[in-house]
Amino acid sequence: MARVLVGVKRVIDYAVKIRVKPDKSGVVTDGVKHSMNPFDEIAVEEAVRMKEKKIASEVIAVSCGPAQAQETLRTALAMGVDRGIHVEVTGPEYETLQPIHVSKILAKLAQDEKADIVIVGKQAIDDDSNQTAQMTAAHMDWPQGTFASKVEKTNGDVTITREIDGGLETIKIKLPAVISADLRLNEPRYATLPNIMKAKKKPIKKVTAKELGVDTGARIEVVSVEDPPVRQAGSVLPDVDTLVTKLKEGGHV
Ligand code: AMP
Repeated sequence: MARVLVGVKRVIDYAVKIRVKPDKSGVVTDGVKHSMNPFDEIAVEEAVRMKEKKIASEVIAVSCGPAQAQETLRTALAMGVDRGIHVEVTGPEYETLQPIHVSKILAKLAQDEKADIVIVGKQAIDDDSNQTAQMTAAHMDWPQGTFASKVEKTNGDVTITREIDGGLETIKIKLPAVISADLRLNEPRYATLPNIMKAKKKPIKKVTAKELGVDTGARIEVVSVEDPPVRQAGSVLPDVDTLVTKLKEGGHV
């Protein structure tokens, strides 16, 4: 049976209206609701289903970030993950933490924990990088099945249906491998109250990136973060003729 490592990132909740800091150095995070990255909920669900189907023997969730990352790990534990690893990265180091760092951390932990499958979300909705799965596979020299909308295990192989432009691609890869979860892979379960209580007793190990031998020094400098341009107000027109005239005037017809 396989051992599965899942990456879970704590991000600003998808329903929150993002505000840019007045000095344009980033977005406001203080006092803002955070949740598990939605694609990571799908990754966790898939890993837990693997355990339920007896494909996986153990599921370990990893979150890299400040102390609050433990809340995200607790959510994963309440969904059925067996144990958590909190890789502590704080302050300015966290602000410039990128897939290059996270993928090295995941690769090291996959090796240490003797994982056969690493599942991450296809993308973190805060930075929209979509790089961690690919980079982790590269560090490990493992095959990758990204944007998975279906994962089926047969003996040593995994058949993955991938969501690509204009259709679906089905590939077969050998384990060990990296998988990234797309939106249609599954519908993640909600953590029930009894499971939230049970999750409090599950272990979370804390390590630093340094202890794992990963340098989380900044590779980028954030120059400026800006709001998207404000949409121009629309206008209501009385009839189609006026619309056509307006379009002609505007050079659209
Ligand atoms: P990204 O490449 O940043 O878009 O992230 C893709 C996936 O990598 C996410 O959906 C997570 O599963 C994982 N990941 C990214 N950042 C972290 C983090 N700080 N801690 C744990 N997992 C992460």
